[in-house]
Amino acid sequence: MSISGQSRRVCLIGLPTDSHSSFLRGAASAPPAIRAALSSDHSNRASESGLELGDDICFEDIGDLPLDESAADPARIRDAVSAAASDGAVPILLGGDHMVTSPIVAGLAAIHGPVNILHFDAHPDLYDDFDGDPLSHASPFARIMEAGHATRLVQVGIRTMNRHCREQAARFGVEVIEMRDFTVAAVPIPPAPLYISIDLDALDPAFAPGVSHHEPGGLSVRDILGVLHRVTGPIVGADVVEYNPARDINGMTATVAAKLVKELSALAGGGNG
Ligand code: MN
Ligand code: MN
Repeated sequence: MSISGQSRRVCLIGLPTDSHSSFLRGAASAPPAIRAALSSDHSNRASESGLELGDDICFEDIGDLPLDESAADPARIRDAVSAAASDGAVPILLGGDHMVTSPIVAGLAAIHGPVNILHFDAHPDLYDDFDGDPLSHASPFARIMEAGHATRLVQVGIRTMNRHCREQAARFGVEVIEMRDFTVAAVPIPPAPLYISIDLDALDPAFAPGVSHHEPGGLSVRDILGVLHRVTGPIVGADVVEYNPARDINGMTATVAAKLVKELSALAGGGNG
């Protein structure tokens, strides 16, 4: 779609919750910090495709959902995403811990049917349960695949694959591009309807220190952008999760998150095609 083409409406939604984190809390305070980086005068509103937020891309920030870490939160997330999608918007969600992706995808699948997922992470997040918590941020993709809410799941940047998660990946037919095998060209880009989930710990801690789980040997920012720029069609939604401001240095990880929101918004609002 050209810069002058019609754009879909992008809807930014914050999800301030981190009660399903397995190691450190802190991701609940991420959404306002990412918003501040997005609107900071340190940069402008242009994505690398040339599409500009709020100009070429219709961009609406509807604020944070009122989450209270009760059992009602997943339904609140699912219903807000369904409402945005049924209204014709493309939701981009700011975590929060990675638990949120399961109800987000449930909400999208209710409107679009099963989606395909491109997932960036150091971890496969496929645990059957983790420490007895089936909603753990280590388990969302097990929940999504069990529910049939995704057809294809492509995971990129994985470098913590243990025996259990390897068995889970085989069980669900997950296409895993482990970090040791990563090249931009090696990543299969699934067809529409495509959802993109970015756990910031997919990045090497050198690029994104503000995460709870530092896992050395990861992706560069340019690696992720290189994969995103191979996505041609508009996407149906995306999330950027696991930013932990308490672990950040000079807000540099918030800046990375904001950059990714701009690039995802360009994909949501028009695509690279
Ligand atoms: Mn992770
Ligand atoms: Mn994750």
